[in-house]
This record gives sequence, C-alpha cells and structure tokens, in this order.
Amino acid sequence: MPWTEILGHAEPLERLKHCAARGRLGHTYAFVGPPGIGKLRFAVQLAQCLLCEQHQESDLEACGVCPGCLQVAARTHPDFYLVELPEGKSELSIELFVGDDEHRGQAGLCHDLSLRSMAGRRKIAVINDADLFNEASGNALLKTLEEPPQHSLLILIASSAELLLPTIRSRCQIVHFRALAENAVRQLLLREELVDGDAAASQIAQLAEGSLETARQLLDPHRREQRKILYDLLAAEPFLSVQLAARLIEGLDAGGGEKSSQRTAAGWIVRFAIEFFRRSLLDLADEARGTDDVGQVARFVSRFPSGSPESLDRVARLLERCLAADRQLDQNASILLCLETLCDDLGRLLRA
Ligand SMILES: [Zn+2]
Repeated sequence: MPWTEILGHAEPLERLKHCAARGRLGHTYAFVGPPGIGKLRFAVQLAQCLLCEQHQESDLEACGVCPGCLQVAARTHPDFYLVELPEGKSELSIELFVGDDEHRGQAGLCHDLSLRSMAGRRKIAVINDADLFNEASGNALLKTLEEPPQHSLLILIASSAELLLPTIRSRCQIVHFRALAENAVRQLLLREELVDGDAAASQIAQLAEGSLETARQLLDPHRREQRKILYDLLAAEPFLSVQLAARLIEGLDAGGGEKSSQRTAAGWIVRFAIEFFRRSLLDLADEARGTDDVGQVARFVSRFPSGSPESLDRVARLLERCLAADRQLDQNASILLCLETLCDDLGRLLRA
C-alpha cells in the first residue's frame, strides 16, 4: 500500500524517510499521540516497507502486493510481531514478553525477537497499548531495549509519552503524531463506509476532534439521541435549567452507572453543548455551515438580534461557560456538581 493511503502524519513520515535513506533507522521508536488517529496503521505500513520484497529498506516504500507486504497486512509474516492488550485485560502482562511460568525465557516477544530473521531481513515488533505495561512486563522488556537484537525494530504505541514507564521512555526515540485534520476524518469515515454520504461524514468529522475513534463513538445511536435531546432543551424557550439538569443526570446512568462511563457521558454532553453554542455564534455572525440540525440552532439564535455585538457577546459567554465545564471534567471535578452548576449558570446567562 502506498503512503498516500495513510491520511495525515506527514511529519513523522518525513523524519523516518530521512533516517531510512541514510541507513540510520533506530532500533526503538515510541509513536505517541491521541487515540484513534492511525498510529498503528502507520506502524504496520512502516513494517511493510521494511519487509517488502520489491523495495530496498532505504526507499521506505511498500508495493502492497508481494508476499512480504501481504503477510504483514495479514499479520502472518514470520518476522513481524504485533503485541496488544488481550481481550478483557487491563495491562500488558509479563507472559506476553517472556512466556508463562512453564516457558519463561522460551516464548514471548523478547524470545521471538532474539531469533534469526526468517526472511533474512529485519524482525519488527509493534507493541500497541504501550501505556499499559505494568512493572513486571516493563522490566521484562528492558533487557531487549538495552541490547536490541541486531536487525530488530521495535515500535511502541501510546497515547502520550508521559504514560510510558520512565525506564522504557528513556530508551525510545519519541515520534509525535498529531490529531487528524477534519477533512481527513471525513475521508476516513467515507472510505470505511461508516456513514451514508458526505453530509453525515462532514457532520461527524466536525465533532470528532481529529480522531476516528471519537468519530466511531459519535455513530452510537444512543449518543446521537442524547445530542438531539440536549439540542432541543438548549433551544427551548424559555430555557428550563432545572429540567435540563435532571434530563442530563438521568442520561448519565444509561452507560451502567459506573464512574468512568458517567464521566465519558458527561464529557459528551459538555462537548455537544460547546458545539451548539459554537454553531450559534457562527450563525449569528452569518457564517453558519449547513447541517441536518440547523433547526434547533436557528430557533435558539432567532431570539437574539442578528449581528449585534451584544448578541455575539451573550453567546460567547455561554460558550465560555461550557468550555470551563469541559476543563473541570478534565480535572476530575464532581460530575453531578459540574453539570448542575453548568445548567444553573447557562440559565442565568440566558435570562440576564
Ligand atoms: Zn511489497
């Protein structure tokens, strides 16, 4: 597959191509950046380039059709390893790296990497979820990081460099990946046929914060329904803050009532409210973008004289209040208190 199939990430690619062309690829990289932006895909593509039978390593290109490329894509190449969090587990366990008690040192990734390459080229390992090492598994990998086997390449993938164990981080070359551009998310949604048509893709992409994973969450019908309820309540005249708070808090428990899922749900509510007021602001400034739910935004905006500085200021303050709530949630504030005071304050700002 050519690199043009990978959307975004031109900077990391340029850096690695530069190293490859000079024969100076490192042994250990950490690809860090927000979830759902294609770091794993990029790493697999890099592995294809290094195991492609039609290209030199210095080209850093993959033909996509030779046995080497196909086997990497199918995860069956004998010199390509992918380690990730096993289903239902919350940490990468030591067994994944050095084998279980009965086979300690005779199985696992560190053992496999120490063997001779089957195809006579590199051995490449990608460790996804590398922010989920525990002390034992981190220590098990350390020896491999300190003395990497000849012709091995290890790529660790994590959402941030800070979340890597310090002993691991200090032995990696960090490569930063940024969130995708809105247009890239839109294209990915269409390419993977996750949405019907361009309008839906654009609307989801606007909200997805540069992450395909976030976009996928937005496709959940329950979340879409919550968004519609919130939009209706925000557009209602008069604005009823107590009812809004009650509805939002009721919706929090739909995910099973666990704290972490409540926090995720609250995060979405605040994000949708931010989106609502941002759109209202654009609408007031006559820069509205056509979407399927302009109805509620238009209804809300119609109560303000259009184009007046006071109107813009009022809506900007509503938006600012929601942004503050977003920061509070990030800082682990009480979820209920955060939503209740948000609704209260929105009511007060609207009545002022
Ligand atoms: Zn190939």
